Amino acid sequence: MINNVYPWQESLFAHWVHAGEGRHHALLFHGKTGIGKLAFAQTLAAGLLCSQPQANGIACGQCQSCHWLAEGAHPDFREITPEDDDAADSSKKKTRKRQQIVIDQIRALHDYLALTSHQVGGMRVVLIHPLEAMNVAASNALLKLLEEPPQRTQFLLVSHQRQALLPTILSRCMQVDMPVPSHAQGLQWLQAQSVAQADWVWHYSGGAPTTVLQDDLDWHGWYQQWSPHLTRGAAMDIALAGGVLIKQGMAAAIQVLQKWLLDLWLSRHQLPLRYHPDAAATLQTLAAKLELSRLLAFQQQLNRFKMTAQHPLNQELQLEQLLLQYKKMFG
Ligand SMILES: [Zn+2]
Repeated sequence: MINNVYPWQESLFAHWVHAGEGRHHALLFHGKTGIGKLAFAQTLAAGLLCSQPQANGIACGQCQSCHWLAEGAHPDFREITPEDDDAADSSKKKTRKRQQIVIDQIRALHDYLALTSHQVGGMRVVLIHPLEAMNVAASNALLKLLEEPPQRTQFLLVSHQRQALLPTILSRCMQVDMPVPSHAQGLQWLQAQSVAQADWVWHYSGGAPTTVLQDDLDWHGWYQQWSPHLTRGAAMDIALAGGVLIKQGMAAAIQVLQKWLLDLWLSRHQLPLRYHPDAAATLQTLAAKLELSRLLAFQQQLNRFKMTAQHPLNQELQLEQLLLQYKKMFG
């Protein structure tokens, strides 16, 4: 588990780690993807469980509790997240992530919380992320726990899409709007991680820099490979472009196209670009040739496609069909 908070979270962390008895039993950390919500919740969990935390509330990393956490075997900690599909799929290259948190996981949590905590006088921490991954049955089972919380149990809940949660769940939580980094904070942090082209990465991440690092990918290097293809517009070679774009999987390819399309749309409307300000001139030339109705139709198609991007079959073929739509936008 990560045991650190991002610079833009420091004051919030100090507040919650030191809140003591006044802390609500269920904290819901919500905000957009890529600003470090999960790392925050994990660090808070470690700090709350640690027997000798540092003055700033960060766990010591040395005590028995910290060792248990590091080994993923803390008796007073439970982390609930969509589980990987089981061994049946192990022959395939990419393990498929299950999409939902299911009721069996929450039932197991009920059983666990019915027992007393391991450490005398200690607290138990339950971390659930992302909360919107719970199906309805799981949500209702969790609701019971939130309504009648077990003693000395801290729920830490993380959500990227608060609007997808049941109102009954929301009403049982203290909602915490997670801070986003300023440009200066984000840039400084990326530079401290030795990220090449930090300013480009900042813009490309849409102000959500932690996502870029999680993917462990040289985003700018990849951009330099795919952008010349997309820049060709109607003259683009679909097979070549597809070959570059599929390298990071279908979901990443779709994200590239969505960001590029948004900036094409912005450029066409003479608005500031969001993700590719460095390519303003190129995008302007391309945008002038656009047929707007086709761009909008393609955007909708990509949105629909995103829902099924986990599907492993015929990804190359599917991507080539999408790229054909791309070319058609330019007449
Ligand atoms: Zn410790």
